[in-house]
Amino acid sequence: MPDYMFLLESRLLPEQRAALLRVQELSAAMGYNIYLTGGTVRDLITGASLRDLDFTVEGNPSKIAHELEKGGAKLLVEDEKLRHVELLFSGDCEGSVAAARDDHYVRPGTRPEIRWSTIMEDLRRRDFSLNAIAISLNPASRGLLLDPTNGLSDVERAEVRALIIHSFTNQPVRLLRVLRFAARMGFKLEQRTQEWFDLAIERDLHHTITPEDAGTELRSLAREENPAAILKSWEEHDLLETVHPVLAKKHPDYDAINRLSKVRDDLFMAGLRPRLATPMMLAILGRLKDREQGNLLHKLGFRVAEVDHILGFEEEAHAAGKELAGKKLAAPIDAYRFLERMRTDTLAHLLAFSSISTAVSKIRAYLNKWRPLRQGIPAIVNELTTIGMPAGPKFDAVVDQVFAMQMTGRGKTPEEREKILRKLSGIKEQPKGKEKKHAGKIVGRAAPAPTGKAAAPPAKAAAAPAKNQKAAAPAKPQKKKKK
Ligand code: ATP
Ligand code: MG
Repeated sequence: MPDYMFLLESRLLPEQRAALLRVQELSAAMGYNIYLTGGTVRDLITGASLRDLDFTVEGNPSKIAHELEKGGAKLLVEDEKLRHVELLFSGDCEGSVAAARDDHYVRPGTRPEIRWSTIMEDLRRRDFSLNAIAISLNPASRGLLLDPTNGLSDVERAEVRALIIHSFTNQPVRLLRVLRFAARMGFKLEQRTQEWFDLAIERDLHHTITPEDAGTELRSLAREENPAAILKSWEEHDLLETVHPVLAKKHPDYDAINRLSKVRDDLFMAGLRPRLATPMMLAILGRLKDREQGNLLHKLGFRVAEVDHILGFEEEAHAAGKELAGKKLAAPIDAYRFLERMRTDTLAHLLAFSSISTAVSKIRAYLNKWRPLRQGIPAIVNELTTIGMPAGPKFDAVVDQVFAMQMTGRGKTPEEREKILRKLSGIKEQPKGKEKKHAGKIVGRAAPAPTGKAAAPPAKAAAAPAKNQKAAAPAKPQKKKKK
C-alpha cells in the first residue's frame, strides 16, 4: 500500500497540517469518510506548492465547516445545493470541503442531476484524470491513494486527459480549464482529448460557456502563478472572446501581469507567500477602462462586495503607499511596524506599480534588510539572557530597542551589541574572576542558560512572526568569534 501520508505531511505548512488534522478528527468523530482530493493531491504528486486543501466527505460538509468555524475558520462560500463549502481554515489557509457526489447527465449537455455518492463515483465524475485522485484520511486506510482513472500515469506522461467523450459537451467550461491546466503545468492534451477538444470548438460549444462559469475560471486564473501563459493559450484558441469580448479586443495587460509575477518571485525569495488574486485581476484587466472592468466583473457573476474590493484596491494601496512615505513613518522602526501589518497583496502592488519612490524603497528595505535583521532576534534574546537579564516587560523593551538601533546600522558586531545591551539593561560587566556562573562574554552565540537548556525566548520578545511572515527562513546561525 503506497503511503502518501509521509509525503503529504512533509509538504504541508504548519497551519495546513493543523487544518488537516482538525478536519480528520471531526470527520472521524462524526462517522464520515473523508479524503483529500482534486488540486491538492495533483499538486502534491507533481511537486507544485500546495496552496489550498480540498476535502471530499462522504457526509455533510456543513456540519464539519460549522465546527471548524467555532475554532476560528471563516466560511467564504456555502453552497447548500451542491453541499460545497469554501473556507479559510484558522491560520488563514484556504480550502474547501465538499460532499462526494455524482453528476448524472440524462443526455449529454443537459443540466446534470446531482446524486450523493461514494468517493469512487465522485472521482469518476471529475474533469481530468490528474484531478481525479484522492488520498484517504480515514483511520483504517490513512495515506492510501485512490486513482480509479489512472491519473498518475497521465501525470508521468505530462498529459491532461478528459475522462469521457462527452466531457466538453457536458461542461463547455472545461475547454478553458483544459488549457489552463496544460499551460500551467507545461503538459500537452492527450491525443483523444485533443480530438474531443477540436470537435467541441468546431461545434461552437465554447459559445455556450455560461458567464458565471467563465467568471469562476477568471477568478482561478488570477490566483495562478503564471497567468500570462494561460491567457496566451486562451487567446491562441480564440477562447478569450468567450470570457469577455472587451477583454479579447483590448487584450490582457501582459506587461502589468509580468511585473506582478516578478514581484511575487521577489516576495517569495524574501520568505513571504503573497496572495495576489486582487492585484492580478486588476493587472489582467489593466487595459480596460474602470467602467468596463466593473461591467465585465458584474457580468461574470462576481459578487458586489468582490467587485467593490477589486475596483477599490488600487486607491487603497495608493493611500497606504502615501502613508508609508509620510513623516509619521520616517523612523525605520515605525515603517517596519506599518509594513508588518500591511497585506502582502498591497505590498506587491506598490512594489510593482507605485510611483511613490520613498514607499517603494522602504518596502525593499523591509524585504531585504529589516526582515532578515528581525530573524536575528532570537540571538539577541540569548545574548541578553546571557548577560543576566531576567524575563519580563523590560527585557522585551530592550530587545525592541536593539532591533530599532540595528535598523539604523548600529549593533552589528557582538561586541558592539554587548555594549548596547549592557547600557540599555543597566547590567554592568562583572569584574574579572568574579563572574557568576551564568554571566559570560557574548561571543556571537548564546552561552547555555542556567538550566543547561537552550535559553527560551522570553515573552513576546522573540515575537511570534506576523501574519505575512509565516514562510520566513530560520535565523542564520551567527559566526563564532575567532579566539
Ligand atoms: P486550483 O489549483 O486551480 O485550485 P483545482 O483542481 O483545485 O485547481 P478547483 O476549481 O478548485 O481546481 O476544483 C477542485 C476540483 O474539483 C478539481 O480538481 C476537479 O477535480 C473538480 N472540478 C472542478 N471543476 C470541475 C468541472 N467543471 N468538472 C469536473 N470536475 C471539476
Ligand atoms: Mg482547488
